[in-house]
Amino acid sequence: MTERTGTSQWTNWGKNQTFSPTNISKPRSEDEAIELMRRDILAGNPLRVVGGGHSFSPIVETAGSLFDLSGTERVFSVDADTLEAVVAGGSRLSSVGEPLWAAGVSIANQGDIDAQSVAGAIATGTKGSGIEYGSMSATVNRLRILNGRGEVVDIDESTPEWLKAGQVSLGLLGPVLRVGLKVVPAYYLREELVVMPWSEVSERWDELLADHHHFSFWWMPAERSHEMYKLPPTPKDHCFVKLLHKIPAGPSVVESDEPMRRTGRAYRMYPDGTTDAEFHELEYMVGSNHARDAVEAVRHLMLNTFTDAVSPFQVRWQKGDHALISPQSERDSTSLSVSGEIGRDYWPFLRAVDAALSPFAPRPHWGKVNFMDRVRAEAVYPHLDRFIKVRREMDPHGLFLNPYLSDIFA
Ligand SMILES: Cc1cc2nc3c(=O)[nH]c(=O)nc-3n(C[C@H](O)[C@H](O)[C@H](O)COP(=O)(O)OP(=O)(O)OC[C@H]3O[C@@H](n4cnc5c(N)ncnc54)[C@H](O)[C@@H]3O)c2cc1C
Repeated sequence: MTERTGTSQWTNWGKNQTFSPTNISKPRSEDEAIELMRRDILAGNPLRVVGGGHSFSPIVETAGSLFDLSGTERVFSVDADTLEAVVAGGSRLSSVGEPLWAAGVSIANQGDIDAQSVAGAIATGTKGSGIEYGSMSATVNRLRILNGRGEVVDIDESTPEWLKAGQVSLGLLGPVLRVGLKVVPAYYLREELVVMPWSEVSERWDELLADHHHFSFWWMPAERSHEMYKLPPTPKDHCFVKLLHKIPAGPSVVESDEPMRRTGRAYRMYPDGTTDAEFHELEYMVGSNHARDAVEAVRHLMLNTFTDAVSPFQVRWQKGDHALISPQSERDSTSLSVSGEIGRDYWPFLRAVDAALSPFAPRPHWGKVNFMDRVRAEAVYPHLDRFIKVRREMDPHGLFLNPYLSDIFA
């Protein structure tokens, strides 16, 4: 039986986004979801879908109905020969790892948590780190959506423009019912967590990047910085470095769980366990060719101007992709993130980081705090007009827009 509640307030995980949809529905199957959402669409009512609620930006908000598709969770198919899996968009990342593993495959790369829904993660271009790997969106080769006319539309490589728009879409083409992912043979990861002085990270940067499946670091501007992300003690001007080595699945792999050094199935190793919101994060992607200058610009700001900002400064890498509004679109990227501390006026700091990175044509993580508008989007997304064309084709009445999204994509 579908759960449908009347007007009630919705709040995201970070508690910085709140709104009151006309109702919140949690259908129990794909058919029910289609029936209920189509009813709203044909009546001309706005609607949007919420995944895990782990975005900090106002991208879930709707003036109409809100749908939670977690009740439709399902793995439809896994093919270890063609390396393709099809899952329900509402499935949580945390619940697809195990069935994929049982079928002999893994997701190619993942971010630092697995609380997101698959459709929510790809909607914003969620990614991990590694120069050989794009975001999860870059692995999407099929989508089933319900468009703004109430039609079920299957998108795949035979409709390349729709696929490139759908890989990162912020839900603007319509509710995503199914997602096809290009996967890889199942693998393990050996994780090494190391505390290094900044000078060593700076010196070994290229080597660490080249030698690991995943290299990322958090630079700590203050002695208490590590506490904000619940990371192990890391002194000021040191980095907490995360290194992941890929190991093909096989009988000789020994799983282990020692402090700062673990080996296990890939899907169990990516999440780092952040559970309580104590920060509001901003993350920008710049071209990797500007990585060092961009990192120095943020460090300079934190060392000289915002000396009271304690946020760890995280740096990661991704391979460029072809999605029209992906932050990594056609550009190998380095991502830089900082957070505002809840309870403080962090806006001057986040705006200053935005300004410091502006010479590098930064693109925001769509799910994190950002200052994007139409003018800036046109400057940094060369394919914005192509995305908007597909969006209007799929949603001619603008039912999936909201005020923030209209400013950029109407
Ligand atoms: C603690 C924390 C850690 C994080 N770590 C990382 C990280 O390592 N790497 C990274 O890149 N990002 C990270 N993020 C950001 C996060 O991955 C993104 O914000 C992601 O989009 C959240 O997914 P969600 O399922 O919670 O989606 P939501 O936040 O619920 O929604 C995101 C967008 O997707 C749309 N949407 C959701 N489901 C559907 C659907 N079925 N159909 C159509 N549209 C849909 C929503 O309407 C919204 O526009 C992190 C966030 C937090 C809070």
